Amino acid sequence: MKKISLHWKIIIGMFLGVIIGLIFSSFSGGSIYITNFVKPFGTIFINSLKLIAIPLILASLIKGISDLKDISKLSSMGLLTIMTYLTTTIIAVSIGLLVVNSLGPGKSISDETRTELINAYSNDANEKRDIAEEKKKSGPLQPLVDLVPSNFLNAASNNKNMLQVIFFSILFGIAMILIPAEKSKPVKTFFDSLNDVILKIIDIIMTCAPFGVFALLASLIVEAPNIDLLKSLILYSITLLVGLFVVIIIYLLFIKIFLKRNLREFINGILPAQLVAFSTSSSAATLPVTMDRVENELGVKKEVSSFVLPIGATINMDGTAVYQAVAAVFIAQTFGLDLSLIDQLGIITTATLASIGAAAVPSAGIIVLVIVLAQAGIPEAGLALIFAVDRPLDMFRTVVNVTGDAMVSLIVSKFQKS
Ligand code: ASP
Repeated sequence: MKKISLHWKIIIGMFLGVIIGLIFSSFSGGSIYITNFVKPFGTIFINSLKLIAIPLILASLIKGISDLKDISKLSSMGLLTIMTYLTTTIIAVSIGLLVVNSLGPGKSISDETRTELINAYSNDANEKRDIAEEKKKSGPLQPLVDLVPSNFLNAASNNKNMLQVIFFSILFGIAMILIPAEKSKPVKTFFDSLNDVILKIIDIIMTCAPFGVFALLASLIVEAPNIDLLKSLILYSITLLVGLFVVIIIYLLFIKIFLKRNLREFINGILPAQLVAFSTSSSAATLPVTMDRVENELGVKKEVSSFVLPIGATINMDGTAVYQAVAAVFIAQTFGLDLSLIDQLGIITTATLASIGAAAVPSAGIIVLVIVLAQAGIPEAGLALIFAVDRPLDMFRTVVNVTGDAMVSLIVSKFQKS
């Protein structure tokens, strides 16, 4: 029998998850059954991906950098990576603004629906606002301070500190290049072999992916909020999806025209990572799969992918950037606020920074949105307006986030001199 490829297995798992979720939410007691007996397997799948994320960054980045043999190559790659990430993010926010201003989804929400949504979700929104308040309290250079851990083991013990682990791994890799090769050899052999072991673990986890996504989608369906309220947000959701779609089309055009790559190859290569991103809503949890696919299917060298992708997972979120723009302007439209050109330019700046600052976990985008709203003078209570559809939309924006990282790794791989 012909072997079914991984992405088909994952798609079948997702499809069955939705069907089972719908069936079980249609009778009383069904949802509890899914929550008690199916959801835990989804959680186990996400946990196993997260489990491997920090060891993967450590082994793969140290191996990647120590393979470089030359520090100047690292700094040119670093500059190219950061500049490309920044450019794609600014383009993404601008597309978001363009789409939301053209379609004006907030103009069709009645005062009644607005009050209803705010009443239904104000508690959830307040919770996110409190987290954002904490974030805002720190000084402007705090992100820089946060980059350098005071204790490696502490940093490695929390997936939220991925940037700190990246910092340590880069430092470690650089030090390995700077000492004589015969001295660094045992450490290098160790990390090379650790890297192989970790890649094998990812393979093992991915064989379970179809079951994992099945469980995740089934539990998501049974836990979906009130359908009537979701309906009122359809135009907003469509606007965001259009924005995300435009970004994906731009990526594909760029890959075809400028990188001269075969699109079918790119799509088939990255699809499993996109499906995992969709099911987990987390770029960080998807990172092991993204790295595996980009290296093995898209042929990007480890020294590039191991550097570009972990950094991208944490700072490059084009989908989140589109979302910041669309959501902020949608809320402003709902409240009847007219945003001037200056206000919108301000949104480009804050939304870019917010998407960089957002953690690569589910719902991180809505937390940093508070900062964009505050900066633009848009009522923060509006957060409650978009809450009902935030989780499903998070799934789509995470797909774009992961695809953007993969594209940038192709760009860096093409323009980085070897
Ligand atoms: N869930 C997204 C990610 O992990 C972040 C967001 O909430 O927009 O990439």
